[in-house]
Amino acid sequence: MSAPPDVLVVGAGVSGLSCARELVAAGRGVEVLDRARGVGGRCATHRLLGMPFDLGVPFLHGRNADYLAAVRASCPRRIEGWPRIVQGTGRPCQPEAFRPGEERIAPADGVATFPRRMAAGIPVRTGALVARLDLGGPLQGVVLEGGEEIRARHLVLALAPEQVLRLLNGVADPPRPLAAIRALLETSASEPSLSLCAAYPEGTPAPAWDAWYPEESRVLQVLGHESSKRDGPPLVGLVLQAQPGWSRMHLDDPGWPEALLAEAARVAGAWAGRPTATHPHRWRFARSDLASELAGPVLVRLPSGGSVGICGDRFAPGGGVEAAWISGRELGRRLAAPEVA
Ligand SMILES: Cc1cc2nc3c(=O)[nH]c(=O)nc-3n(C[C@H](O)[C@H](O)[C@H](O)COP(=O)(O)OP(=O)(O)OC[C@H]3O[C@@H](n4cnc5c(N)ncnc54)[C@H](O)[C@@H]3O)c2cc1C
Repeated sequence: MSAPPDVLVVGAGVSGLSCARELVAAGRGVEVLDRARGVGGRCATHRLLGMPFDLGVPFLHGRNADYLAAVRASCPRRIEGWPRIVQGTGRPCQPEAFRPGEERIAPADGVATFPRRMAAGIPVRTGALVARLDLGGPLQGVVLEGGEEIRARHLVLALAPEQVLRLLNGVADPPRPLAAIRALLETSASEPSLSLCAAYPEGTPAPAWDAWYPEESRVLQVLGHESSKRDGPPLVGLVLQAQPGWSRMHLDDPGWPEALLAEAARVAGAWAGRPTATHPHRWRFARSDLASELAGPVLVRLPSGGSVGICGDRFAPGGGVEAAWISGRELGRRLAAPEVA
């Protein structure tokens, strides 16, 4: 049997990978677990008819120099400044992406290039859903769906706040600081998003815009022109993202993809409602609400000498991928400090 890792990170999204990278660089033993088949979480790219579609965050943006350097180093093929041609005055998913000083980058092979490159050299186990935590003993434990237990001295939860809360709520008699953090996380209200990748038939003229934020639609938040991010795209493709309020109302409605296409046709023309292939995705927790963001990650020391850390997009100012990366890096550095080892 292999020795337990020093640090177990739950979540191979940008925050978990950023934390794990700091720990690996400091020579600490790390294992990252993720329930999905691949890494990246909400920084997700899906291939449809041979073209990458970004079905979560549509592009990377930020103003932190280290973050932007990391994105550029991981994504040598990229379009700077995307979306360059914006139509409509509706509210973008993250309005600060368009403020002065913010830099926008669309990786030409999809946003998931960034987490995939970050994962190089990090032991990641995919298909590993953590069903519950066991914080009672000298080592912190996670129990996977199926019953397997994995233990480590330190545990990092790098998940959407609601997913952290679900795991913490299953801990009987948690240490006081964790109970307090649980109460804080109760105030989280991540916005959901229903997203649809749509590939159009040969001969469809490419739209003149990169992104369209329709100001009067209660259904569609954005029509993203995916093929405008790609080098020599094989087809015209859009990603349709629904408004958070509409998404919340239709999360369990099986007819939402058709409703989204009908609205795309109304907004952009009949062609937009007639794709040859689609791929729907339901994000229950797409973005944490701006009002509930915290200044930094959390690190709680346990009586056993181990610790539980929490990072993610809610745990640094500004939210989104940049905050996820910054909070993961900070937590990794704190855990790598000699006094925590
Ligand atoms: C539609 C959409 C639009 C967005 N638009 C923007 C935008 O414009 N700008 C921006 O900056 N951000 C945007 N975001 C948000 C951005 O993608 C996230 O803030 C960021 O990717 C979060 O990274 P993370 O590592 O904190 O969490 P995640 O990426 O969610 O990573 C968490 C990981 O944990 C895994 N996991 C969850 N539960 C378990 C479990 N029990 N056991 C094991 N693994 C588990 C998940 O599979 C996932 O891989 C958008 C997101 C979506 C979905």
